Amino acid sequence: MYYVCFDCGKKVEDEYLAAKIRCPYCGGKVLYKDRRSVVKIKAK
Ligand SMILES: [Zn+2]
Repeated sequence: MYYVCFDCGKKVEDEYLAAKIRCPYCGGKVLYKDRRSVVKIKAK
């Protein structure tokens, strides 16, 4: 499982977030679970 940074959109492993909730790439504190990998949505 991983999270996605709201600012830069990069994937962040939840293991990293166990220590501190912060994006290692841009330092953003807003991250959310990426549900796109779980829920499949038909675009067309
Ligand atoms: Zn980021």
